[in-house]
Amino acid sequence: MSHVEIIAENSVMRDTIEKVRAKGRIVGFVPTMGALHAGHLSLIEEAKNRCDVTVVSIFVNPLQFDEQCDLKNYPRDLAADISSLQQLSVDYVFTPSPEQMYRSEHCMSVDVGELAHLLEGRFRPGHFSGVATVLMKLFHLIPANIVFFGTKDYQQLKVVQQVVEDSNLPIEIVGCPTVREEDGLAMSSRNRLLSHEERQRAKCVFESLELAQKIVAEGERDPKNVIHKMRKHLHRAGVKIDYVALVNPDTLYPEKELIKNALALVAVRMGSIRLIDNRLIQPGAG
Ligand code: AMP
Repeated sequence: MSHVEIIAENSVMRDTIEKVRAKGRIVGFVPTMGALHAGHLSLIEEAKNRCDVTVVSIFVNPLQFDEQCDLKNYPRDLAADISSLQQLSVDYVFTPSPEQMYRSEHCMSVDVGELAHLLEGRFRPGHFSGVATVLMKLFHLIPANIVFFGTKDYQQLKVVQQVVEDSNLPIEIVGCPTVREEDGLAMSSRNRLLSHEERQRAKCVFESLELAQKIVAEGERDPKNVIHKMRKHLHRAGVKIDYVALVNPDTLYPEKELIKNALALVAVRMGSIRLIDNRLIQPGAG
């Protein structure tokens, strides 16, 4: 366990990282909204493996919440988070207040175009613009060499890659695999808001993704048939489906035929809690 330096001020954060970079050290950055779990920690481990200095930000970004009650209920546990980060020997934690991040005259908003309106974007208007806006700000405050994201939020990863490329920022974006609970449920800060009974049923999301892989490996090539069976499985578990999709992993447009690797994505609601997950579907895999 080592000392982790907690920084809440923009100028202190930027000066600190600029000094670290001036010494030629490689800086890794993991942006989070806190309520840390093993998924977040795997990103941090990866940053520590690849970089000399690791920075984690904890900021519940109001701009990316399309529902006020989701923002209000979002789990927050800074003391436990700091303790986890200490155990991982993270170097810096950035914990800005909303006022620090968004001055009252704040006017910048990042438009991410077409990608923002597909899949998640259809159900969460403004979400990806909020994500891209806060990340652009964070990338300027924490001028890192490498930034780590989870492929659990696959569309977010795509948005980030696009924004970084379009803004010519000299940052490498790394996507890390999804960490799961024993029954397959993707770890998420929101999982702790599920009731015991909802938590039991939540594994249907992972099961539906596994089912898709099985059906395609057995020879099904029509995405409509695969989606139909996935939806049936989710219906049986009594969740409300926002979308089930089989898309091209690069463009996120729906596949017409499953002949090469495709990405299956699922978004459901259990009460007021929204769960998302995805997996690569490989026609050639056994
Ligand atoms: P969040 O705190 O939800 O904004 O997530 C912060 C980062 O952790 C994002 O890059 C997420 O994609 C990533 N993340 C969230 N859940 C998982 C998980 N189960 N496995 C791996 N990465 C994750």
